[in-house]
Amino acid sequence: MTEDPNFSHELLFSGIYRCVEEYYSSGNRANIYIIQGREMDVVVDAGLGIWNIRKYLEQKCLIGVNGKPYLVVATHIHFDHTGGLHYFDDVAVHEAEAEYLRKGDNYACLTFVQSGNVSRTPEGYDLRNFRVKKVQTIARILHHGDAIDLGDVMLRVIHAPGHSEGSIMLFDDNRGYLFSGDVIYAGALFDFIPKANVTKYRQTLENLQKMADEVTYVFPGHFEVFKKAKMQQIAQDYIESSNRMMQRFSVACLRCILSVYFGGKSRNPFRKTCYYSCCCCFMRCICE
Ligand SMILES: [Zn+2]
Ligand SMILES: [Zn+2]
Repeated sequence: MTEDPNFSHELLFSGIYRCVEEYYSSGNRANIYIIQGREMDVVVDAGLGIWNIRKYLEQKCLIGVNGKPYLVVATHIHFDHTGGLHYFDDVAVHEAEAEYLRKGDNYACLTFVQSGNVSRTPEGYDLRNFRVKKVQTIARILHHGDAIDLGDVMLRVIHAPGHSEGSIMLFDDNRGYLFSGDVIYAGALFDFIPKANVTKYRQTLENLQKMADEVTYVFPGHFEVFKKAKMQQIAQDYIESSNRMMQRFSVACLRCILSVYFGGKSRNPFRKTCYYSCCCCFMRCICE
């Protein structure tokens, strides 16, 4: 089998793999996890999707071996996690963001790909036209508290809004493994982007602190896997900084600028509303 230069994967723990898109060098490059179970596997997020992630995972026997079913779970709507969903038949997403995916709403997806960060594209592919494609086959709508049963592994869905409305985490209670998407990772947490909400983000991280005793490892949407102690530190830092007035002011300014930028850039019916909502958004950021 020839090596595929566009992807790589590694085994992290028994039945847990991480795959990345090697052709994408941005800090936005998302981790794609494969959680293997006895009866079913789960793929967490699907990356940018310029190259075919499904084909790679199948060729490497990471999913679909002997017809074993699998579900692809989007931790949230953003383009770096959802661009590759269109390759799959069985996709699951939180109820708050399902409609955006069905419509291919690239304002909600915050689609932003710089050509300098993509080293290879398929022949004839024009990166300027990159969009998250509509996902027409959403097999499962997720709600807080849902369980995804893999046979010998059970994943609990935790709704964790703040970074986006429909952000979720998947929690394997048995092993204490938390697949956190962009809710928490070892880097600056994005609460200044359109549709983010600082109050909800802070609440989410306070909830995370309360369940810290159950967590062993965090498998974030970006960067490296880390342990509970680091999770507690990142969450605490955010909770403290989000209470500062200056911090709220900068978040408000940045979110307004980004709302206008992404609204103007996106080609969907939602774009007009973002200009008008800019003022409301600013006031909300300051007051919340
Ligand atoms: Zn995100
Ligand atoms: Zn991300």
